[in-house]
Amino acid sequence: METYDVVVVGARCGGAPAARLLAGQGLRVLLLDRGARGSDKLSTLYVHQPGVAFLRAWGVLDEVRATGAPPITGLTYRVRDVVLRAPGPEVGGGNEAYAPRRGDLDAILGRAAEAAGVDVVHEASVTELVHERGRPVGLRYRKAGRWHEVRADLVVGADGLRSTVAGLVPAESYAVHPKLSCCVYGYWAGLDAGFEQHQGDGLWVGVIPTAGAHVVACYFRQSEFARVRVDVAGAHDRCLRAAAPSVAERLAGAERIGRLIGMGDQQNYFRTASGPGWALVGDAGHHKDSLTARGITDAFVQADLLARAVAEAGSLRPARLDAQLAAYARERDRRMMPFYRSTLAVARLDVEAERLAELRRIAASPELCARYGAAVAGVLTPEEYRLHDAALAP
Ligand SMILES: Cc1cc2nc3c(=O)[nH]c(=O)nc-3n(C[C@H](O)[C@H](O)[C@H](O)COP(=O)(O)OP(=O)(O)OC[C@H]3O[C@@H](n4cnc5c(N)ncnc54)[C@H](O)[C@@H]3O)c2cc1C
Repeated sequence: METYDVVVVGARCGGAPAARLLAGQGLRVLLLDRGARGSDKLSTLYVHQPGVAFLRAWGVLDEVRATGAPPITGLTYRVRDVVLRAPGPEVGGGNEAYAPRRGDLDAILGRAAEAAGVDVVHEASVTELVHERGRPVGLRYRKAGRWHEVRADLVVGADGLRSTVAGLVPAESYAVHPKLSCCVYGYWAGLDAGFEQHQGDGLWVGVIPTAGAHVVACYFRQSEFARVRVDVAGAHDRCLRAAAPSVAERLAGAERIGRLIGMGDQQNYFRTASGPGWALVGDAGHHKDSLTARGITDAFVQADLLARAVAEAGSLRPARLDAQLAAYARERDRRMMPFYRSTLAVARLDVEAERLAELRRIAASPELCARYGAAVAGVLTPEEYRLHDAALAP
C-alpha cells in the first residue's frame, strides 16, 4: 500500500495544476490518469486571457507558445448585419488568448506537476474509493493488470464529465439544465482567419487559430443532434453556408486535416464540489455547454481555489481541512454560477431583436467593444458588464 497526502484522479487541465499547486505546498501528491501521457481530448482548445494568466503565473506559457499556437488578441463576432470587433482584455501582464492542442497543453501541465515533485502515473484506472468513518481515506486503481491501493488524507476528483470519484463519494447534482446545443468540428490548414464567431438562427460558428491550423466548429440546437450525427460533413457545411458564408468561401481554399468530430453530450450541471476528505475540480464538478469555451479556464480557476483552500487549512487534519473544503465549494459556486447562466443564455442560439439591438450599439462604440471582450473572457462577470453597459447607455 502506498501513502500520500493527496491523491488526484485525472491529469489534465483540472487535475495537473491542482496536483502541482498542492505539491508546491510541500504535500506528497499522487496524480493518476487512465489515459496515455500526451493523449488528445475532444475540445476546440480556446483558453481565455484569465486562463493564460494562470499559465504565465505557473511558468509554462513559453512552453505553450513553443507548441506553435499563435497569440489571439481579439475577437470578431458577426450576427446578421452586425460586426463587432472586441480586443482581448489585459490580464496578468498580457492580452493574448491561446488555443494549444490539448495533447500538448495537458502534457505541459503534467510535466510541470512532475517537476514540482508530483508522482504522475498514466494508464492507471481508478475504480474504488476506500472509506473509513464516513470519509474517503484512499482509493484503488488498476495498472497493467495489477491492483494498487493508495492511502491519502485528501482525494481529488478531476476525472471529467463522467467522473468516477463524483459517483463514488457520491456528489449530488444541482442546477442541472437540459442540453442546449450539439457540435461538429474539425481542423483546416491554410485558412485565412483570426478568432471569429458567427451566429445565425439556431446556429453558431467558431473559428479558432491553433498550432498549424484552425479549428472550425459548428454548433446546432440539441434537438438537431439526431439529424446532425448521421451526416456530420453535410451538417457542418450547411451551418457554415447559413451562418458564416465568408468562412465557407475561405474554407474552399483550405485543406481539412483529419476527420470531423460530432459531440452531442453538452451537459449542464453542478455537482457538490467537496465533502469530508474529498473535492472535485473541473468538469468532474461542473460542466456547461462548450460554446462559450470556458471549461479549461474554469478548471484552472478551480485548481487554484482548491490549492488556496488547502493552504488556508494549514493542516490535513479533518477538522481544519473539511471547513476549508466547504469554503472551496461555496467559492467555486460563487465564481462559476454567473458564467453558467450566461452560457445557458447564449447556448439557446436565439437571435432576439433586443440582443441584436444591443450588439449593434456595442459594435458602434470602441469602449463597449472592449467591455464586451472583457465579458467574453470572463474578466467582467455578466452582471458587472451590464452595470457598466447601463452606465454608458445613451
Ligand atoms: C466539443 C467540445 C469543445 C470544447 N471546447 C473548449 C474550448 O474551446 N475551451 C475550453 O476551455 N473548454 C472547451 N471544452 C471543455 C473542456 O474540454 C473541458 O472543460 C476540460 O477538458 C475539463 O478538464 P478536466 O481536467 O476537468 O477534465 P478532462 O479534460 O475530461 O480530463 C479528465 C481526465 O480524467 C481521466 N479519468 C477519468 N476517469 C478516470 C478514472 N476512473 N481513473 C483515472 N483517470 C480517469 C481521463 O482519462 C481524463 O484524462 C470543450 C468540450 C467539448 C466537448
